[in-house]
Amino acid sequence: MDPPSRDSLPPLTRYVKLRRNGTEIPTGYVEASRGCLHHCLHCPIPPVYNGRFFVVPSDVVLGDIRRLIAAGARHITFGDPDFLNGPGHARKLVRALHAEFPGVTYDFTAKIEHLLRHRALLPEFARTGCAFLVSAVESLSDVVLANLEKGHTRADALAAFDITRDSGVALRPSFMPFTPWETLDSYLELLDFVGSPDLVDQVPPRPAKIPWRRSRGFTRSRRGAPAERTRAASISRHRNGRSPPALPSPGSAERSPPRASWAQ
Ligand code: SF4
Repeated sequence: MDPPSRDSLPPLTRYVKLRRNGTEIPTGYVEASRGCLHHCLHCPIPPVYNGRFFVVPSDVVLGDIRRLIAAGARHITFGDPDFLNGPGHARKLVRALHAEFPGVTYDFTAKIEHLLRHRALLPEFARTGCAFLVSAVESLSDVVLANLEKGHTRADALAAFDITRDSGVALRPSFMPFTPWETLDSYLELLDFVGSPDLVDQVPPRPAKIPWRRSRGFTRSRRGAPAERTRAASISRHRNGRSPPALPSPGSAERSPPRASWAQ
């Protein structure tokens, strides 16, 4: 099997870049596996793969990475649905990547459950150039998480923030704030959590999974107020001196800011 041909694609300079310390770094995207072992109910992958995943041979992935680096990439995104479905495969790849290109960083996506189960691997990911990792936290409501069959709880998500931070890898969470089970209070709590000093620069600016119109419609039908007004109400409560809802601490206040963000 050969690495995928990218000859007909635009140059990497036309794609999203990683912005770090004021520098925009060209990025490349590879996939080390297809499918997923899990069955989260909101995900489009289980209906196709039905709990199966398939690794891409290491030499193919590394060949793909070499081509991307020759084309200018200095950061690699492992775009697998979940890089830690195959933790041994993942570790082998990042070791090889770091040995051959020690200056190249990378990121990947993994579910909270996997971050907890494979927490012993996190320091090695940090050492081998993992700039950050992405995980679908989705919600802080245990009711929502149970209905989505996410495989983690609110406590698990908070623990994942702690262990990734302690390992020196920034966790960039994604959220799915509009579901039939989210309440106004749990939504406001989520906003407060995301807006906390530890996290506000660590969270991508908008949820990727729910179209804007749908989020407006859901909030309006439930409460008669568009999402913007709901957020404004949350901000107003703070300005008026009312205490925000009790929040779980995502960690200590001295934590360092995120090390990287994306530039379009
Ligand atoms: S772990 Fe991620 S990729 Fe796998 S089914 Fe759940 S949401 Fe989808």
